[in-house]
Amino acid sequence: MGETETVKVVVRCRPLSTQEIGQGHKSAVHCHNDNNALKLKNPLSSEDPERTFTFDAVFGPDTDQMRVYNVAARPIIENVLKGYNGTIFAYGQTGTGKTHTMTGDLEKAEMRGIIPNSFAHVFDHIAKCGSERTFLVRVSYMEIYNEEVRDLLAKEGQGQNLEIKERTDVGVYVKNLSTVTVSSASHMLKIMEYGNKNRKVGATLMNVESSRSHAIFTVTIESSRDGGHVTQGKLQLVDLAGSERQSKTGASGERLKEAAKINLSLSTLGNVISALVDNKSTHVPYRNSKLTRLLQDSLGGNSKTVMIANVGPASYNYDESLSTLRYANRAK
Ligand code: ADP
Ligand code: MG
Repeated sequence: MGETETVKVVVRCRPLSTQEIGQGHKSAVHCHNDNNALKLKNPLSSEDPERTFTFDAVFGPDTDQMRVYNVAARPIIENVLKGYNGTIFAYGQTGTGKTHTMTGDLEKAEMRGIIPNSFAHVFDHIAKCGSERTFLVRVSYMEIYNEEVRDLLAKEGQGQNLEIKERTDVGVYVKNLSTVTVSSASHMLKIMEYGNKNRKVGATLMNVESSRSHAIFTVTIESSRDGGHVTQGKLQLVDLAGSERQSKTGASGERLKEAAKINLSLSTLGNVISALVDNKSTHVPYRNSKLTRLLQDSLGGNSKTVMIANVGPASYNYDESLSTLRYANRAK
């Protein structure tokens, strides 16, 4: 992918699951990895036209985790190591592979996602620099649930509903958010796993509940040579709430309120990114959601952003896949 744009958008389509194959589902998504194109065709409707989309990269169902890392994430992490900010988002309907893409399966090396691979990348780089440079790597982990910020690294029962603040010297920050200094890739993994256990609702309801919050893992890397000028880069790794339109699912009461907040933050993110891509916009609406406010200094300016839009291939996902591709298309 070209190295100049501030925002890149890639699409990943997961394979049909065994269950979907068993139920006889057909794929509505056809990926052409080589020319970064994706075709969407509704097999259940002869009226819907075939639609073609192109992105900075297209990852079809056979794409392995390392390729996704090398193409979509590696350039961002390299930039952060040089002292710039970078953000990687996973966007898409629940069940399409956001967490697979960002975290993956930690037990199997080749199934690890972008977050653990970035930890290894950072500490490999530090090892390569040897005694030439000194590094300080710190992490935080939070989630935004119902427009409330929660610290995932806080001790039990603490770190709820934190305030977002702004200071001219440090910019936007979360008051009282824990920061942990880490010493190795495996140390970072342990911290991440600790945070995952603290996500809004218990593991049994993981897919239902985690799909309603945005998880933001932040890695800050400071380095200097012989105690000289300190460079600082910040990496934001974001597993977004599911983009499905929850109002359609018959949600009511609290659920409907949650849904409205998720829709607001995802649509604000879309508006912020499209304002950044469309260089002419003078107003970038960062302040319209906590998500974009928190990521303000990691979006735009010298920062690099990659949006990974995830889609499911089956025809029953057609409407949501189309809506994800349109969202992604707008961010290009
Ligand atoms: P999300 O986080 O978007 O809700 P998940 O990452 O939990 O979705 O993925 C849903 C299921 O699909 C999981 O069982 C996951 O392992 C599987 N899956 C997702 N993407 C892929 C892929 N590219 N290859 C194989 N399995 C995948
Ligand atoms: Mg998930």
